[in-house]
Amino acid sequence: MDMNDDRTNPRNPYTTFFHEMGHMIDNTLPELIKGQNTNWWHNPYVSSGYSSYSEDFYNNLITDVGNYRNNYIYDTSKFSSADAAISDELRGARKSEFSDLFGGATDNQVVGSYGHWDSKVLWWTDSYWDFNDKTGKPAENGQYNKEAFAHFTEISIMQDQQDIDDLQRYFPNAYTTYDQMISEMEALLNESRK
Ligand SMILES: [Zn+2]
Repeated sequence: MDMNDDRTNPRNPYTTFFHEMGHMIDNTLPELIKGQNTNWWHNPYVSSGYSSYSEDFYNNLITDVGNYRNNYIYDTSKFSSADAAISDELRGARKSEFSDLFGGATDNQVVGSYGHWDSKVLWWTDSYWDFNDKTGKPAENGQYNKEAFAHFTEISIMQDQQDIDDLQRYFPNAYTTYDQMISEMEALLNESRK
């Protein structure tokens, strides 16, 4: 990450910085609340299922993408399918988070200009999202919750109204769960300070 590039990030200034901060919180919180040294890959808070909301968060992300696809009304003279129309809507830097998360939930069937197409992270996965063709979903305790948490955190810190509106529009259920998860984190941190 280059802070000078990030200052002029077409997404929003410092988007990358706050996104990586989201990953840091996810990766280190379980150790932080126990007052232990942090071990980066040991036991992420959201993406390893440590949070009592991890499963809800994952399920709601997938459900929200499904609902958006199913209820999407589009111009049939312009697009061959809802997926094609949504992909077009998700193009451009301002939609990058949503493009990425729709791509992850749909094996990149619905994706704008930003996303993860390959680059496996761990030797036992076959792609970034480790998409399972049988279940039609990305791996649950893998990159999907991890990226979603980082994207949601970056948007929550930036408080750009268009992003907040988009978050509520694309991910109404997952956003509610995210808020519950943040409250849970706060409570755990407060508890650990007593
Ligand atoms: Zn990320």
